[in-house]
Amino acid sequence: MTNREPVAANSALPRGATIEVDPLRRNQRPASDRFEPLVEIQHLTVEYGVGAVAVSGFDLTIGRGEIVGIVGESGSGKSTLAYAVMRLLREPAHIREGRILYYQGDSATELLAVERDQLRALRWSELAIVFQSAMNALNPVMTLHAQIDDVLRAHDRTLTRTSRRERGEELFKLVGIPLDRLRAYPHELSGGMRQRALIAIALALKPNLLIMDEPTTALDVVTQRQILDELLRLRAELGFSMMFVTHDLALIMDIADRIVVMYAGRAVEAGGPEDLLRDPRHPYTIGLLNSFPTVSGPKRRLTGIPGFPPNIAELPQGCAFHPRCDRALDVCRQQVPTFTVEEGSNRGVRCWLHGASTTLGAEASVAEEQCEPAKLARNQGSDMDRGRSSGP
Ligand code: SF4
Repeated sequence: MTNREPVAANSALPRGATIEVDPLRRNQRPASDRFEPLVEIQHLTVEYGVGAVAVSGFDLTIGRGEIVGIVGESGSGKSTLAYAVMRLLREPAHIREGRILYYQGDSATELLAVERDQLRALRWSELAIVFQSAMNALNPVMTLHAQIDDVLRAHDRTLTRTSRRERGEELFKLVGIPLDRLRAYPHELSGGMRQRALIAIALALKPNLLIMDEPTTALDVVTQRQILDELLRLRAELGFSMMFVTHDLALIMDIADRIVVMYAGRAVEAGGPEDLLRDPRHPYTIGLLNSFPTVSGPKRRLTGIPGFPPNIAELPQGCAFHPRCDRALDVCRQQVPTFTVEEGSNRGVRCWLHGASTTLGAEASVAEEQCEPAKLARNQGSDMDRGRSSGP
């Protein structure tokens, strides 16, 4: 086990600068041979006003073609993180420190340092976002065709009217919307169709990273499933990476290559879906797993998570989860645990019960052993496994 050192923020980076990537740093990327970084978030801290910390010292590297799920309750900082990557934060939100590198070949662009013109060129063509509420995100007085046309015209002035229309049709076919809907206004479509239309617009310029901010929350489970299947198919076809923000851990298990669980602005656990399903380690992850029923598999008791997420302006001392944690130790109320990463893997956890300190010893293992929700979560892991293997 190693404790991850925070990466120093480079606030002195010149505006619009691109950075040559140190080949040695590239060799230190997570385990898989095929892993090629696309976006690297380094020690990002975002505040609302003074002292209300929404994201704190956050590190994450997203690989090319990888789907990374960012999971947590409302207020855990996941949408703030997504907006920071797109540089869409509005006052009073501001980035206190950190860097976000976007890799292109052997160089990287510091997204937080680029000028507006360069940012405009990167948005949609390299990085695109699908917002939570399609009705709010789409322009209600423009047809879908006009909205796709708008994006294409703004970013590629060489495209003729005919080629823009053909591209619009191609995108609609890609996301499974009948072509006669191209001339429709947003209010004339169902919720699922509107969400598909947003995905079509986001894919218009073939971005390398698609950020999905709770894209299926307002949809029924059948439409949700269809959209997720569609996204997996599109990813396989087009090869883009995804940062998928959601509060629904069970949902993201089905599509993510890797999942990061956030609480009070910090990553508290990370790993592959199977790791989190079979062996959840952080009490918050265990609580999330115990908050959602499985559609198939045996009936089980849902325990949820007691209490509410903390006010980010008044975070508790020590581990921010301690007021809700039934395994809290004395040290939890005093010191923030470090994020401990398993050597040579993407598996990590921020909890005093798991490798953050070797001095806790017996006290920690007894607390873990006796914990009821942990046993339930382990059982749920096998229930969900059975549900998945017998799935639709
Ligand atoms: Fe609970 Fe302590 Fe772990 Fe925080 S560090 S999740 S309070 S056991």
